Amino acid sequence: MSENLNMFYAAQKQIKDACDKLKCDPGVYEILKQPARVLEVSFPVKMDDGSIKIFTGYRSQHNDALGPAKGGLRFSPTLTLDETKALSMWMTFKGAIVGLPYGGGKGGVACDPKKLSPREKEAVTRGYIRAIAPIIGPMQDIPAPDVATNAEIMGWVMDEYSKIKGYNSFAVVTGKPLILGGSQGRTQATALGCCFVIREAAKKLGISLKGARIAIQGWGNAGNNLATILHEMGAKIIAVSDLNGGLYSEQGLDVATIVKVDGSLMQKTDAGLIEYPGATKISNGDLLAIDCDVLIPAAVENQITGDNAGKIRAKILAEAANGPTTPEGNEILKTMDVFVLPDILASAGGVTVSYFEWVQNLQSYYWTKEEVNQRLEQKMVAAFENVYNFSKEYSVDMRSAAYMVGIKQLADAMKARGWLS
Ligand code: GLU
Repeated sequence: MSENLNMFYAAQKQIKDACDKLKCDPGVYEILKQPARVLEVSFPVKMDDGSIKIFTGYRSQHNDALGPAKGGLRFSPTLTLDETKALSMWMTFKGAIVGLPYGGGKGGVACDPKKLSPREKEAVTRGYIRAIAPIIGPMQDIPAPDVATNAEIMGWVMDEYSKIKGYNSFAVVTGKPLILGGSQGRTQATALGCCFVIREAAKKLGISLKGARIAIQGWGNAGNNLATILHEMGAKIIAVSDLNGGLYSEQGLDVATIVKVDGSLMQKTDAGLIEYPGATKISNGDLLAIDCDVLIPAAVENQITGDNAGKIRAKILAEAANGPTTPEGNEILKTMDVFVLPDILASAGGVTVSYFEWVQNLQSYYWTKEEVNQRLEQKMVAAFENVYNFSKEYSVDMRSAAYMVGIKQLADAMKARGWLS
């Protein structure tokens, strides 16, 4: 039978496993196994050719026991309600592990942003925000960037919501441009947070990051910033890839050249394909099987599956993407000698600095980049230690431990609220 790649199924399974290991009150799983609220919207957009096109969007709010829903919004042609639900569930755990006063949210529009003009993209964003405005707000649900969305789009989100309200609502969305109340350090936060937990894992394993060999899958905001930061930490970036293919060099890729590539590494320029002297072309699949110290899936979900998990030859697997490993892939990883930094820990840097942005907006008092990064480091290191200690105490893998830390927080909050018997 082929593998079940439904992310909602994966999220439910991970939560159930952790509830069982913790021997939780059955009510905990019953409440957490689905989002508390989902909204599907259809809205019209006037296209550049004058036609009207209807777009479908979603917003899912998983659980608000610890605080308002928080999580990104993505533009993806294949986006479904189940994917949105799963992503909102993972956000609940990310926030809980890092100790943020949030529940999980996620949303997006089923569209191909590459096929939209800049004006159409803005119209889609504004149409979506008008459609979901009744359920978002600084104290209800706070969107942020995710796959194929960025600070510019968050600026439109803030502006559209503010127009509806009749006053400026900076705290309704995070990941905004600095001039509209964005935070220092937010753009690099997912990558920097991931680097902090990689550093802590390397210490536990006695691996030095100086000269460590790194492979990164995905060349979006996370992948690109990961290469920059790890290079600065003294590591060697030996492979990178995106949807269209990848590059490999045992000596280390020329980071100064690759980080300048905005968009696909394999994009065509007027002069043909970008040249990378000394690098060999590899496929996305080859990258996952490369012999390296740290492998970082930083693209999208369902990359490490029952089919290819066994081929991984990394010492540390740091999941900067959401849901890159399927349940079948995970069962294989558990039997292997690879230290897993699960997505809900390794990718929590973004939402952590989003939290800082929200706090700064609510106080209208802004921090320096150094203050932001220092607080991010404290939170990520504490979260890593907590999950690591849990994994030792309960003799479980790091992914189970991460879910268990999150479930415990949520169960305590739900109990204190009187939601459980
Ligand atoms: N989209 C990011 C994530 O999946 C960031 C969410 C946020 O900042 O709220 O973690």
